This record gives sequence, C-alpha cells and structure tokens, in this order.
Amino acid sequence: MRISFIIFFFFFLSCERNAITGRRQLNLFPEADLQKQALTEYQSFLNKNKVIPAGSSKQADMVKRVGLRISNAITNYYNQKGLSNELAGYNWEFNLVNSPEINAWCMPGGKVVVYTGILDVTKNENALAIVLGHEITHAVAHHGNERISQAFIAQGIQVAGDAFTKNNKETNAVFNAVFIPGTQLGVLLPNSRNHELEADRFGIIFAAMAGYDPRESVLFWSRMDSQTKNHIPEWLATHPSNTKRIQKLNEFMDEAMAFYKP
Ligand SMILES: [Zn+2]
Repeated sequence: MRISFIIFFFFFLSCERNAITGRRQLNLFPEADLQKQALTEYQSFLNKNKVIPAGSSKQADMVKRVGLRISNAITNYYNQKGLSNELAGYNWEFNLVNSPEINAWCMPGGKVVVYTGILDVTKNENALAIVLGHEITHAVAHHGNERISQAFIAQGIQVAGDAFTKNNKETNAVFNAVFIPGTQLGVLLPNSRNHELEADRFGIIFAAMAGYDPRESVLFWSRMDSQTKNHIPEWLATHPSNTKRIQKLNEFMDEAMAFYKP
C-alpha cells in the first residue's frame, strides 16, 4: 500500500510530455544526472574498446560526418521550434569501434558509438544515417530515462534523485543495460514497441533533414533481415520483427519525404 502510494507519487511528479513525440513519459531522473553518468560510462567504454581514430580510416570519417550532419539537423530543428533547452548539455561525439558486433547506440548528451560490424549491413552512408537517426532519436526522446525509470521500479531499486551520483554497481548495471545493447549484466530490458516506432519515425525524419534519403531505411532493414537470419544480433534481440518495422516505415515515409532535400 505504502509502496504503491510512493510509486504513484513519483509517477505523478515525474510524468512529462515529450517535446517531439507529444507522448507522456515517466522520467524519474534529471536529464543532467543521466548525461553525467553517460560521460563516465562512455569514457570507460572507449577505454576498453578499440576506437578507430578519425583521419585514419574512411569509415571512421564517415561516422563523424553523418553524425555531425544529423546532429546539426536536429539542433536546427529544435532551435526553430523553440526547444533548444531540450538539448541542453548535449555535446555530441561519434566514435567507430572495431568490433564484429552488429550494434550502435547513443547515450544521453549525444555520446554515440557505431561498431564496424553494422557497417557490413549499412553498406552505404545513407543507411548509416538511418541507423544514427534511429539511435539518436532514442536519446533525444528520453527513451532511456523512461526505461531506466521502469527498471528501477520493477527491480525495487530505491528511486532517489542522487541514484547516479554515487558509484553504485546496481544502478550502473541498469544504466549500461539500457544504453549499451548487448551488455551482459543479467538485466534484460527489451525496447518497448512505442520506443521503436518513435525512433523509426523520427529517425527517418532527422535523416531526411540532414539530406539523406529516408527510403533507404526500408532497404537497410531488408538487408538486416536477410543478413541476420541465422544469428540475431544482441542489438536486435530487444527490437521488434523486421517485417513489422518495414511495414510501419512505409507508413511513415510520406511524412519524412516532406523534409527531404537531397
Ligand atoms: Zn531502437
């Protein structure tokens, strides 16, 4: 009784309407705290993995170029809409790591990693823009905050404002399980269908704003479908089926095409 009251109270206090999707979300943590935690985890990830420096490889340069174009497009769009405070604390970074894993992610504050393995499926710059648009949407739409909030409640972890300011193993595990797909920490947190649809819908819009053809998304997901038939990557284990996704992308296409200037 008391616990459910506390949860209700937090829910009431913490629900906010998302600036771009308009959907109400339960976000228990200040974005600034998540960004701070992201800095620590991002740095530690980069230290433990093989980062391919820009200037030394065409692929690493491409990751930075696509990332810059999309992040600029998003920043301009938010500024035009009077939403620039939504991106406060964003300090974009795009790194390519040498790993056969099919994976890519974006942490709060714009900390992005692309694994070389996913470049075998993207095959071209346009498809990489589709992937980055998708992952960046997860971050700017605060999907991670929402998932962490749900995980804390589900696992009975005490929800306190300073959850991420102490170096706590349990909270760090949840953070990494949410933001680094494939992290084996015994916490499985599937992406919700809502999050995936939002990331696909706004991801192709942001890619289109950056001058990339949103129609490539359908081709990319078809390639993903055929190339991963025998082994589903961790990145996809928490994602919905490709057939359903392609169907939805086609429904979203007209909206995205309106923003597309090659
Ligand atoms: Zn996703």
